[in-house]
Amino acid sequence: MNHPKRLYAGVAALALTASGAVVAVRAWRGDAASGTSVLAVRATTPSTTPGQLTASQKAARKKALDVILARRSDAVLKGDLKGFLASIDPKQTELVARQRMLFTNLRKFGFSTLQYFTADGFDAVPALVEKFGATAFSTRVMMRYQISGLDPRPVQTDLGYTFAPRVGSWVLVDDTGIDELLTEAGHRQPWDFDEVQVVRRGTVVVVVDKREASLGTKVAKVAEKAVTSVRKHWKRPWNGAVLVVAMPQERVMSTLWTAGSGDGWTIAAKAVTLFEGEQLGKPIGRPIGSRIVVNPAFRKKLDKDLLVHEMTHVATATLGLNAPIWAVEGLAEYVRCRSIEDDPHWSVDPYRKRVRTKYLSNLKALPSYTVFADDADQAYGTSWWIVEYLADKLGEKKLATLYVDLAQHGEAVLKKDTGLTAAQIVAGAKKFKG
Ligand SMILES: [Zn+2]
Repeated sequence: MNHPKRLYAGVAALALTASGAVVAVRAWRGDAASGTSVLAVRATTPSTTPGQLTASQKAARKKALDVILARRSDAVLKGDLKGFLASIDPKQTELVARQRMLFTNLRKFGFSTLQYFTADGFDAVPALVEKFGATAFSTRVMMRYQISGLDPRPVQTDLGYTFAPRVGSWVLVDDTGIDELLTEAGHRQPWDFDEVQVVRRGTVVVVVDKREASLGTKVAKVAEKAVTSVRKHWKRPWNGAVLVVAMPQERVMSTLWTAGSGDGWTIAAKAVTLFEGEQLGKPIGRPIGSRIVVNPAFRKKLDKDLLVHEMTHVATATLGLNAPIWAVEGLAEYVRCRSIEDDPHWSVDPYRKRVRTKYLSNLKALPSYTVFADDADQAYGTSWWIVEYLADKLGEKKLATLYVDLAQHGEAVLKKDTGLTAAQIVAGAKKFKG
């Protein structure tokens, strides 16, 4: 049975590749976690302009700020609001309110580990110096964390804080002034907006706006079913741990909801991969896992199919970054379409027909990034068909083995794993009846 919504999802269920590389970012150098031994937190009181601090004064400042930051992360883990707010200038009432909200949100995520520590510092940011005096010091702060039950190893994101010395101690006076110096998703994590509701169900964690708590329950149910579907057709071990963000705010995790060339097309959801040394942007180290971020415009009509597509990306994200885009998107579409047809009442026949009558005649090569940017329908449809063809030829188990090899070694393994060249796969897919 045809259902327009299902077909629509077929076109709209578009996500970035495993690397999330489409998101433009500023590269930055990762910083190792500094020690968190508790020392006296005493501000060095610069007698001259900050630019003239000696190296040892700067080191002392860094040490003092790292102690404060370590206390703040400990306070989050222990549920100590007072301890968390202790380092904040009480006169900055809006800042205090934002930080109180941040604490409330952070507590809901259930971090198994959390560390804040200073990274690059910025002396004399004009607007902040003007507001807080010449001794104000702005610094990027790394937040390195693991969400319990989700992240097998720590991932990280960044924040921008400004501190000022007050009566011999540094206090936090601002938390937004250097946001433009952060990575794209810096200070745009799900906990950085309004109060959230975190719903856990099985291996799934869903984040919604607190005012939309019932949406969280609904999405969690759908997400859990999507996990089951992915496991059925992706024949490799996957623990099903996934975080789905379905918040109303547009810029959570810095997602942009159009892609492609020209006017582009709307993205319904994205799977954003997290790396060992980076939250978004230039990856450092290996991929640790992914978050699914849903386009706010789609959050209330989110169906299982869309999540199945995105979760296939999540299930495969840690395998490696070398799978060609036709394999990444084709596999996600394959699992989505298989899971739709697991229900005998549903069919993707109209999609099948569209690919066979409209798209296959234009298929000349395995679809590249250019085809995805220029004609998403053509690219997703034919990539799906190519993977259907390979699944028919190899079976789901060998298809998964092929995908792992592609993710690790790239397209060069095609001939070895399938017995076919790229050109032969294209020719075979064009003739494949499905
Ligand atoms: Zn996708």
